[in-house]
Amino acid sequence: MSVRLRLQPEAIGTGMTSQRVRDRLVERLREEGIADERVLNAIRTVPRHLFVDEALATRAYEDTALPIGHGQTISQPWVVARMTEAVLSARPGKVLEIGTGSGYQAAILAALGLEVHTVERIGELLRVARKRFRSLGLNIRSKHDDGRIGWPENGPFDAIIVTAAAPSLVDALGEQLATGGVLIAPVGGASSQSLVLLHKQADGTLRRQDLGAVVFVPLLSGMID
Ligand code: SAH
Repeated sequence: MSVRLRLQPEAIGTGMTSQRVRDRLVERLREEGIADERVLNAIRTVPRHLFVDEALATRAYEDTALPIGHGQTISQPWVVARMTEAVLSARPGKVLEIGTGSGYQAAILAALGLEVHTVERIGELLRVARKRFRSLGLNIRSKHDDGRIGWPENGPFDAIIVTAAAPSLVDALGEQLATGGVLIAPVGGASSQSLVLLHKQADGTLRRQDLGAVVFVPLLSGMID
């Protein structure tokens, strides 16, 4: 699976955004248990420094979440990698993401050749993310909406990932999952959650697996400009 991206000169990076620094992040992820070479290759190639403010670009290849404005964060690379591995386990074609944020997770999935749909409730974040998709030549379908309703017209999806935390799983999303598909979502309170993977069985039931502790910003209701 090759990574499909159009890279402009600013995507190549220098100094703290150079390929050497990016390779170091990939080695660290490998040491911390990320084994899927397709995922590591996507992380090596997608320029994370273009998904944060210029002032934070030098920190873009640290394995840490960073602020993206509006009280939101771009997820930690290890979490993005782990969720992407879980998505690929379903051998997906079509994927739905709830919580576009910076657009980084969606870009990783699209770079892997998946058909990506993503929903964001904050209009301003979505506008910026769409610009990034365009400049990288990524064809990603996006919508400004409360993602808790999913995207029923475009379902069913082989994988659904929720990148914001809720105390319990959202039923509407399970319904939009194809048979054999996976739903990956952080479930829990504000300070810590468990990353849950639900696998949809042939009889329509969902089998649950726990992928470990994570921290995400909360899944909120309604939309804002
Ligand atoms: N996947 C993002 C992570 C962003 S943080 C990235 O790679 O950068 C989580 C995002 O979920 C925030 O942008 C937040 O606004 C969004 N969000 C929270 N509740 C939502 C909801 N109900 N519907 C859609 N997006 C939501």
